[in-house]
Amino acid sequence: MAYSQSYDVAIIGGGIAGLSVALRLPAHLRVALFTKGQLGESNTRYAQGGLTVALGADDSPELHFQDTIAAGAGLCDEAAVRILAEEAPAAVRWLIAMGVQFDRAQPGTDAHATADGLLLGREAAHSRWRVLHAGGDATGAEIERALTLALRNRSSLDLFEETYVRSLRVENEICTGLEAIDRDGRTFTVDARATILANGGAGGLWLHTSNPAGATADGLALAWRAGATLTDLEFMQFHPTVLAVDGGSHLVSEAVRGEGAYLRNHAGERFMPRYHQLAELAPRDVVARSILSEMLSEGTDCQYLDLRHLPADRVYARFPTISAICRKYGLDLAGDLVPVAPAAHYCMGGVMTDTFGRTTRAGLYAVGEVACTGVHGANRLASNSLLEGLVFGLRLAGGLAGTLAEQDIPSARRPIAIPVYDDRSRDEALLRVELDRESMLQARRDLRQVMWQYVSLRRDRQGLLEARNQLYELRSTILAKATATQNGQQFSIAWLETINMFKAAELVIAAALQRRESRGSHWRLDYNTPDETLAGRHYVFQPMQYAQSLRSTAGDDVSDRLTYVGEAGDHKGPPFPTPPPSPLRTDDEASKKPTCVRGGVEGGGDPCGRSGALAEDGLEEVPSHA
Ligand SMILES: Cc1cc2nc3c(=O)[nH]c(=O)nc-3n(C[C@H](O)[C@H](O)[C@H](O)COP(=O)(O)OP(=O)(O)OC[C@H]3O[C@@H](n4cnc5c(N)ncnc54)[C@H](O)[C@@H]3O)c2cc1C
Repeated sequence: MAYSQSYDVAIIGGGIAGLSVALRLPAHLRVALFTKGQLGESNTRYAQGGLTVALGADDSPELHFQDTIAAGAGLCDEAAVRILAEEAPAAVRWLIAMGVQFDRAQPGTDAHATADGLLLGREAAHSRWRVLHAGGDATGAEIERALTLALRNRSSLDLFEETYVRSLRVENEICTGLEAIDRDGRTFTVDARATILANGGAGGLWLHTSNPAGATADGLALAWRAGATLTDLEFMQFHPTVLAVDGGSHLVSEAVRGEGAYLRNHAGERFMPRYHQLAELAPRDVVARSILSEMLSEGTDCQYLDLRHLPADRVYARFPTISAICRKYGLDLAGDLVPVAPAAHYCMGGVMTDTFGRTTRAGLYAVGEVACTGVHGANRLASNSLLEGLVFGLRLAGGLAGTLAEQDIPSARRPIAIPVYDDRSRDEALLRVELDRESMLQARRDLRQVMWQYVSLRRDRQGLLEARNQLYELRSTILAKATATQNGQQFSIAWLETINMFKAAELVIAAALQRRESRGSHWRLDYNTPDETLAGRHYVFQPMQYAQSLRSTAGDDVSDRLTYVGEAGDHKGPPFPTPPPSPLRTDDEASKKPTCVRGGVEGGGDPCGRSGALAEDGLEEVPSHA
């Protein structure tokens, strides 16, 4: 270990979430902020559409609350949504005070605007005009610009750019800091009284994604290995309209449809009115699946956005970034039919937190896309994610400023059902080897292809089991090809990211298998309607070796409902009570099976790659110690 440093707060991530926390913390706290690329390179930078806030004369936080709840399809945490909607106006004022310049209405125009002139846009499933934007469609870039500028002026903050956080440190069940690799390849440790995951999304797990290259789900994997609880991982939002051109993965913002663009199939038909009464402004998952249905029924690989009926000057002025991207590919946004297709976009699930960012692991916090506060439920309302990072980032900073002394208090949020898995041995096997670069890149491509083919917009049991088997095979191939690392040998960051991608992908598949219904962004062909008994129910994951501490923090009401799934032989902690039949197993198949079996997730295998057949060989009930 090259060196070690101490801070009050360590923040992993320099997107809107990490920056909001860092800038809101009191100046007397010593803060370290880590970004794996250069500061500013993040999902935040690419956000086009905008940031939601109920500031219009005909709008209110209550209406924003209602729209968010409706989009969330029965899984939103209402208290968290209320905070989001009610604290949004003050949070936006803070952002403006930090130097963010949102677009303003030209005097004398009939544009929708706030009383003090902020221009308001409209996006799918919003009942009012309430989306602030900057530079037309460069909202995230403007937010990153202003906040990174402010950050560089903070003397109480040490910035570690191009520094990769590879693991979290846990001592006596408390997260006490992290281990990182700096830009010169040196490993060092940081002690921190509070460690904050603000490391963004997981879009990189899928072959087609709107996310930039860094979205490799590092935060989910770090939290998992530190024993924190993850939840709602089956809910990945697929953006309906990513430009379908060779070699690009550029988003065409929802705001384009908000401005009046139509979707057309290859026959020229405006098809959305056939699928939903809100047509192009239907919720995101509906639009994405409708586009996919048209693609499948036509046997084509894209559909078209049509803005030809809108004034060209208005289109170019409102969407300068998207217009420029289109031009790069020989397309005119206002004059051509623009080819689009769905792609992985936003991870609704994540590290489970309460509304002050506390995870179930004391000393560890999470905020932004990596976190799951419950505000998005099964489907995020457009432009609520920048806002979530902002509002909950400010709250986390406020909470920390007041309670750092009591940092060992874990989240008060209570999970409902807790399948628990243990796969340390498989993780550790990958962490002991290194692949050559070409094989590693191939493994990534294969993983992303598997996730796209079986775990994207249309899922079913057979496909999910196939995905699980294929990932297991991929791991085996990697281990066969890889070379053992020598003592002290440095891992490449790309390899560490790839291991994280495997971890997160396996958990997403497990969650998707477990939820046997269609809800929000999770669409199962074999259970193609919502199951009302599952409304409000969340699947929660935690490695088995930490299950006892979770149980002790979860309280009796919840531990009674633990669904305990894992490897019996690995259970070395204090006794568990006999779990009762899971309230989540309602179908015929489940009622015939014991609830609590080793590998007892749907399909019989564990979630981490082994096939049902393999896992069932030697299946045994988890011993009852009660
Ligand atoms: C193309 C696109 C358009 C979007 N448009 C909108 C929109 O209009 N409105 C909206 O509300 N949302 C939008 N979103 C979603 C929104 O941008 C993100 O959800 C949000 O910006 C996430 O912010 P964050 O701070 O949580 O993470 P990010 O902005 O992704 O930041 C992650 C940070 O973590 C760092 N990091 C990650 N792993 C490590 C590690 N291991 N070690 C060190 N550092 C690490 C990265 O370097 C980066 O600094 C869009 C997303 C995309 C991709």
